[in-house]
Amino acid sequence: MDVQYLVVHCSDTPNDREVSAAEIHSWHKNNGWDGIGYHAVIRRDGKLEGGRPSYWPGAHVRGHNSKSLGVCLVGRDQFTEDQMLMLSQVLAAWERRYPNAEVVGHRDLDSRKTCPNFDVRAWWKG
Ligand SMILES: [Zn+2]
Repeated sequence: MDVQYLVVHCSDTPNDREVSAAEIHSWHKNNGWDGIGYHAVIRRDGKLEGGRPSYWPGAHVRGHNSKSLGVCLVGRDQFTEDQMLMLSQVLAAWERRYPNAEVVGHRDLDSRKTCPNFDVRAWWKG
């Protein structure tokens, strides 16, 4: 895959609710997709769970799935310090593999979305 974007998402579930990659997998299957659309999920406690393998295009951002990897933070608009720490580790690892890829939020590629409800570009630069 020619990865141009590393896309951050949220699960858009209540901030106090724990959600597993397996649950998201079943939701996305119910959407009629081939299972979980993200490549990685970061749980409220900062634990990383795998989604699709990175050689398999995701189903997470309309129009850009063939050239992006997606990581999902569990929650809606308040993420834990452990999650943000793990997010920076995941993105740093992906950047090493795809040095030309840009770190963005879902909403930066789809103006109809607010996901993940913070300015990912500004956060990543800072
Ligand atoms: Zn999203």
